[in-house]
Amino acid sequence: MTALLQTQDLQAFYGDAQALFGIDFELNAGELVAIIGANGAGKSTFLKCLTGLVKAKPEAIRWKGQPVGGQSPGDIVRQGLAMVPEGRRLFPSLSVEENLLMGANAGRKGPWSLKRLYQMFPILEEKRAAPGTSLSGGQQQMVAMGRALMSNPEVLLCDELSLGLAPIVIREIYQAMPAITAEGMTVVIVEQDVTMARQVSQRLYCFQEGRVSLQGASSELSREQISQAYFGV
Ligand code: ATP
Repeated sequence: MTALLQTQDLQAFYGDAQALFGIDFELNAGELVAIIGANGAGKSTFLKCLTGLVKAKPEAIRWKGQPVGGQSPGDIVRQGLAMVPEGRRLFPSLSVEENLLMGANAGRKGPWSLKRLYQMFPILEEKRAAPGTSLSGGQQQMVAMGRALMSNPEVLLCDELSLGLAPIVIREIYQAMPAITAEGMTVVIVEQDVTMARQVSQRLYCFQEGRVSLQGASSELSREQISQAYFGV
């Protein structure tokens, strides 16, 4: 079976500084895969390569078997990848609903609509007319996820959903994941919250200093294996 998305010997650079040193990664349709790792391990850079924000060699990234590395972010979105960026990045002058509709403009037809989103996150319907940035951090994260879903991607890439949020809010956000995957979505989460990453994912990759230090079925990896791969001790 051809993977939906695959990277092979993926390298990435910022000027002369190398950030990724040959990442081999595979994502199959319908999976929820987590990427964990310490600050600076290269997780965000990896997502940026997948979405075209950091350049990669064409054959280092394959989408349904076809080389796509180095394509523009616009082309990549049209093929069906959407990103929930770290720090949420809502449009400050737009309402909640306008922020959500920005996602629809960028995307394709599919199961996700305002109605479906408001079912999943009722609080967003209550606050639909409020400026996006007037919401709490957790609610802004819901808008950021909703905006990405509105483009009806095949793959949803989530960068540190839990960042700066209280544990109870993190759980609330992640409670939406089963509804998202039930719609046939394939999901990649980058997470600092290792416990949550392990709980919600089927497979897990740990990055360390720009390399994959561990990968496997989330339920089969022990805490010890993970902390060793995470901290390199
Ligand atoms: P974090 O959890 O802090 O986001 P990360 O695992 O996502 O960490 P990256 O942000 O991908 O890690 O960083 C990987 C490496 O690339 C680090 O050494 C970092 O300093 C470097 N780096 C990241 N962004 C840039 C940039 N814009 N210019 C130069 N170097 C960068």
